Amino acid sequence: MIPVERIWNSAQLPTLPAVAVRLLEIVRDPESEIRDVVETIKLDPAISAKLVKAANASYFGVRSEVKAMDRAVSILGTTVATSLALSFSLTDESLQTGPKAEYYRNFWVHSVVQAATAELIGQKLEPAQRGEYFLTGLLLELGRLAMLKTIPNEYIPVLEEAKLPGTSLPELEEAKLGFTHVQIAQQMMTLWKLPEGIIHAAAFHHAPLDKVLELRTDPNTRLLGAMAFSAAAADYFCSANKGLALHSLREISTHCLGMTEDDLVIFLSSIEERCHQAAELFNVSISHLQSSSDLMIQANEQLVQLALREHVASTQASIRQHVAEQEKRELETRNRELQQQALHDPLTGVHNRKFFDEVLLREVHRCVRAAQPLAVIFIDVDHFKNVNDNFGHQFGDQVLKRVAQIFSETVRVADTLARFGGEEFVVLVSQPSEKGVERLAERIRENVEKEAFRFGSTPVKITVSVGAAIAIPRRGETGIGDRLIAVADECLYEAKRNGRNRTILRHVMDERDRQLQQLITQTRFSRWLVQQRLLDVPSISRVLLDCQTPHVQCGELAVRMGYLDIAELHSILKHQEVTGDRFCAVAVRLGLMTATETVFVLATQQEDPRTVMGALVRTGLLSPDAASGALEDYTRMIAPPAKHRVMAFA
Ligand code: GH3
Ligand code: MG
Ligand code: MG
Repeated sequence: MIPVERIWNSAQLPTLPAVAVRLLEIVRDPESEIRDVVETIKLDPAISAKLVKAANASYFGVRSEVKAMDRAVSILGTTVATSLALSFSLTDESLQTGPKAEYYRNFWVHSVVQAATAELIGQKLEPAQRGEYFLTGLLLELGRLAMLKTIPNEYIPVLEEAKLPGTSLPELEEAKLGFTHVQIAQQMMTLWKLPEGIIHAAAFHHAPLDKVLELRTDPNTRLLGAMAFSAAAADYFCSANKGLALHSLREISTHCLGMTEDDLVIFLSSIEERCHQAAELFNVSISHLQSSSDLMIQANEQLVQLALREHVASTQASIRQHVAEQEKRELETRNRELQQQALHDPLTGVHNRKFFDEVLLREVHRCVRAAQPLAVIFIDVDHFKNVNDNFGHQFGDQVLKRVAQIFSETVRVADTLARFGGEEFVVLVSQPSEKGVERLAERIRENVEKEAFRFGSTPVKITVSVGAAIAIPRRGETGIGDRLIAVADECLYEAKRNGRNRTILRHVMDERDRQLQQLITQTRFSRWLVQQRLLDVPSISRVLLDCQTPHVQCGELAVRMGYLDIAELHSILKHQEVTGDRFCAVAVRLGLMTATETVFVLATQQEDPRTVMGALVRTGLLSPDAASGALEDYTRMIAPPAKHRVMAFA
């Protein structure tokens, strides 16, 4: 990085002679006439002589020799005359030899190609303004000249490095010096009070392609597009970056100039011809430039190379991405394995006690909120010590694995089975009824008893003892989980004392709760369907597993079903706040609901008939007509009549 002031404070910074300054003022003035230009140029005899010579150049194709200044200027046009006058003043004899000569020559070649290209585009787009296109094209690289003159030791290495294919000069300048020739040119043009349009277009000549294409529909930006094209043409003819330059030329010519590829090829060869004429005009040698057709071959080869490189890069990127995804998948699998290990028993593969405790805690909270029953089943292998002692620990392990498998095949998917420790297992039963838990516990015991265990050819009798407990938590009763486990454990030991290989169930609720629970179970839609012989028990059990009734508060349900109005609901809630009793109990005590109504509300709360009906249709057990007919019959036969307006319940 170097301070940019070094450029502005340098005595080497190109300045304009008085004649050039005056000429620029005249060009800016729309009222100016050729006569003003002629008079001004005549003030500088050296420039006058050069202009007359230029007017005779093949560029203008005049037949008879031009000798007078006014004729010269009318042939050149005011802007081109001004451009030439400017360029003569920028010519620096001292740079034509020595170490900077090569870069100085390149600057001029570049500028001449840009000017010629710009003028040809101007001819196409705005013929009257083509002089302005020419002048702008000529001055685009002014910043390069300024830097070459003021900070040659720093700038020449940058120009050298930029010769490598695939490098962008402005990017390199920005990285090495902290500013670009585009910015310097812009400031010099501002200093010289060049027209706004020219400064703006110069600032744009190295803009990224997408920026240029973005502006293509704006007619005020024609000059910008033309300069971007001219800069690309100069890169195409003079720089090492021919491939990218050709790519830009193709894009701009297609999108901004409406050219086909054939048009472009023809246009490039006319540019080549015009460049030779312009070079003569500026006394610059461009005989070293290759012909447009040779250049096209080179540029296309470079483009193929670039495309290949890009292909390789994108292939590598996709390989990297693939590897990253693979690693992510492996990590996820590992995480799942760790999670599996953390929550499962390694010997039997069923859940461990930690998992069971978490689920129990969650279920306790849910059932306390919903006043729904909760049940656990404890299982212990009988005389397991003897199994180990007689057949060895390894065989004991196999027995544990097999009984765990039997348990998990016997319980329902929604139940939670876990190894509690040693040869003890536990089941948390989902949505239990007293009968249901009893049956499940018995099935577990029977299935083990039926299994034919063998040690080699020796049959080994394996049995289990089972203790179960079911409860409906009271409002706010949090210790219910521990109590259930303790009661189930007691039942288990009672089963052991009573001779093993048996099941004992106890309920942890008072008789009234128990009867209420039985009433609710009998009132449920699923039970009614079985009683009506519309479905058998296994089918309805599968359906119930497949659907979950969303939890709704009793009070809200009672209002929806027309057993309470809002005022009654509020008075019950107020009482409930004071006494802490269950909602339905308060409703009955206040005489706002009958016991039958509360039972029906609670049955609906546990099992919404419409949810069950949806599942029946979804699983194909009943047709939609049969299902809604059944629901209608159930409501007519079971539901107590509503006292208030029914809100949503059909
Ligand atoms: P009961 O019918 O009264 O339950 O008698 P039991 O012999 O089954 O009960 P006890 O508690 O006396 O013995 C349990 C045995 O289970 C003792 C212990 O070595 C064995 N055991 C605990 N965990 C494992 C295990 O992972 N693998 C094996 N093979 N044995 C185990
Ligand atoms: Mg045991
Ligand atoms: Mg034991």
